[in-house]
This record gives sequence, structure tokens and C-alpha cells, in this order.
Amino acid sequence: MGCNQKHSKRSITIRCTGLVLRKIFIIDIDGCICEHVDNEHPELMLSAQPYPDSVGKINQWYDQGHFICFFTARTEEHREATLTWLEKHGVKYHQLILGKPRRREGDEYHYIDDTPIRATRYKGVFGDMVKKTKDVMVFEDE
Ligand SMILES: [Mg+2]
Repeated sequence: MGCNQKHSKRSITIRCTGLVLRKIFIIDIDGCICEHVDNEHPELMLSAQPYPDSVGKINQWYDQGHFICFFTARTEEHREATLTWLEKHGVKYHQLILGKPRRREGDEYHYIDDTPIRATRYKGVFGDMVKKTKDVMVFEDE
């Protein structure tokens, strides 16, 4: 398979015969890369401990040329604390989006897009990605 690497200042995009291998990771913060902190307790945001391997894996993806976007229910008033925390822990990323709709007990996020998407629920291990067959919800006509 003929592959080449295209270098730019911020990322390396690897293309193999038309297949774009770059991933746009959209990653939650609280309870995903670090201890969960409620928006009601912003004083705890700076001291939240990162979960094992989360920062290392995210930085690895960044270094491989993938795009890292944090999407969190923290609000604009938490921006500075969040940026400080990310810098303090050496997290490499491209974008921070605040204001994700807050989830109440029993709610779930369901993302719909017209482009290929995948979803991975964090369950305590930030490791390598593997392919597994799982049930997913699709539109009835698919
Ligand atoms: Mg969370």
C-alpha cells in the first residue's frame, strides 16, 4: 500500500491511497481523563488528579497527528481553571469546547452526524483502541 506523510506545523496527516487515518478525538474531561469535579465545586478543578495513562495516551495521539478536542460540561467561568489544569499536567490538545449539555441521572449522550463517527465509553482504562463488535443504534432504514 502506497503511503506518504504530509507534514504541517501542527499535525502530520497520513494518507494511504485515499484513506484518511487522522482521528478527531472529542474527549470529555471530568470522570474521563481526571477525577470527576462538579461544576458546583470549581475550587476542586485545579487539584483534580489525572486518571492513569489518560494524559500519556492523549499526548501519544496528538504526537501521531490526530486532533484532540476536549468537550466538557464545564462552563465559560471554568475556562481558566481548565486551561491551567491542562497545562499543569502537560496535556497536548488543539481545542477546548465548554458548555456540553449536562447529563442528568438516566440521560445518555447520542451523537448524530453525517460523517463517520465512533463512540467509546470510558470505563477506567485509557489504553490502546481495539475493534470489537457491539450493538449500536442506527436509523431504521439503514
Ligand atoms: Mg464527564
